[in-house]
Amino acid sequence: RYESLPYNQILEIRKQNFSPQMSTYFQKPLLLHQGYMQWLFDYEGKRYLDLFSGIVTVSVGHCHPRVTTAAQNQFGRLWHTSPVFLHPAIHEYAEKLTALLPEPLKVVYFTNSGSEANDLAMMMARSHSQNVDIISFRGAYHGASPSTLGLTSVGAFKPRTTTGSNCQTTMCPDVFRGPWGGSQCRDSLVQTIRKCSCAPGCCEANSQYIEQFKNTLHTVVAKEIAGFFAEPIQGVNGVVQYPKGFLKEAFQLVRERGGVCIADEVQTGFGRLGTHFWGFQSHGVLPDIVTMAKGIANGFPMSAVVTTPEIAKSLTKSMNFFNTFSGNPIAGVIASAVLDAIKEDGLQENSQETGSYLLLKLAKLQNEFEIIGDVRGKGLMIGVEMVQDQESRQPLPLKEMNLIHEECKDMGLLLGRGGLFSQTFRIAPPMCITKEEADFAVEVFHSVLRRHMEKRAKEKF
Ligand code: PMP
Repeated sequence: RYESLPYNQILEIRKQNFSPQMSTYFQKPLLLHQGYMQWLFDYEGKRYLDLFSGIVTVSVGHCHPRVTTAAQNQFGRLWHTSPVFLHPAIHEYAEKLTALLPEPLKVVYFTNSGSEANDLAMMMARSHSQNVDIISFRGAYHGASPSTLGLTSVGAFKPRTTTGSNCQTTMCPDVFRGPWGGSQCRDSLVQTIRKCSCAPGCCEANSQYIEQFKNTLHTVVAKEIAGFFAEPIQGVNGVVQYPKGFLKEAFQLVRERGGVCIADEVQTGFGRLGTHFWGFQSHGVLPDIVTMAKGIANGFPMSAVVTTPEIAKSLTKSMNFFNTFSGNPIAGVIASAVLDAIKEDGLQENSQETGSYLLLKLAKLQNEFEIIGDVRGKGLMIGVEMVQDQESRQPLPLKEMNLIHEECKDMGLLLGRGGLFSQTFRIAPPMCITKEEADFAVEVFHSVLRRHMEKRAKEKF
């Protein structure tokens, strides 16, 4: 029946029965009926290239046949068993997943969302270290549960109520927005087409950011801390990358204070960054806890936390962890089929190849449009930060961002948004996107920007 619900009626239901804050992203909200791989179809059958995968969630493609068949077969056999029973699906998956992680990250806990995974990681860090203070970056997004909201550092998501106590934020080493620059030092292929391979002073930027990190350790947390959370590349904050080497030094400083290091791979994991399966690997670090969600099950609600036997032991001493849906057979077969699809379809390789191709094409647009302030990212996690002009780097006003965003959508291209001022277009398509589709995306973006610049010349926005 729902497919016959008219557009206006759906808008009305949304208005009456949904939270008034719930964003619809576009001025004319998109009503979707179907998806296949990197394509989405609206209620009128119009096709859109999905460059955002429902916020970096659809990893191997909408309704990927292998994953769909696995889910359908399991739906007819057994949906749910309590985690206290054995079932092959989740055990097979646990073995497959942990095989992809380096020693000693071998103990896996299953949860249902990124927030839940990070909640659990917080408890692990505190149980193991016997300390309470946790540090995260400003601009980070680690969840919306009361405790993870202490780690999430985006004003728009902060409620007017107390959240996660003993969570402190530290300056994000954002090499584009930060005071010391250093963008030459980040791990992005864009640097190869800019002539600034490590200009004098740029490596010094890293030490300035590290000094800030030390300052946080000296000023706002206890002598001994519980842990430090970091996304290998910040997603919600607009694909923000740190200088190479920053995380390595930060991890060491945290460990010197008794803390454990947590990599939040909710957006960056599962091959999306191309060069590595996990984002932390691209920083040359080994976390003590890794959290994952979103792409883990291609859009089916599931998440996981992987840690060391030692930390798992500390958690066990401190509490009985139980989660009703953890490791249900449906999630198990879906997540397992996702890993098979990543391997068989060569999706990590495609992230590297098509992602780099797309990144470099977008970076070239920067020479033509002064409202493109920065192009960055790795593999199929790309950010295009929009500014009023390249010199001032002032964020492009919301009104202009919305117009560009909407027009791309009207031309069949769905982009994501991020950044504190919603000034960054985020690109993270299902990892099956082809070079031809990357060409299409760049052509649409180019023509929308060209028209926008013409309008800009005539009107004052
Ligand atoms: N960590 C990161 C890096 C995220 O981007 C998100 C969601 N945007 C979360 C955690 C929280 O995930 P969820 O919405 O599934 O709770």
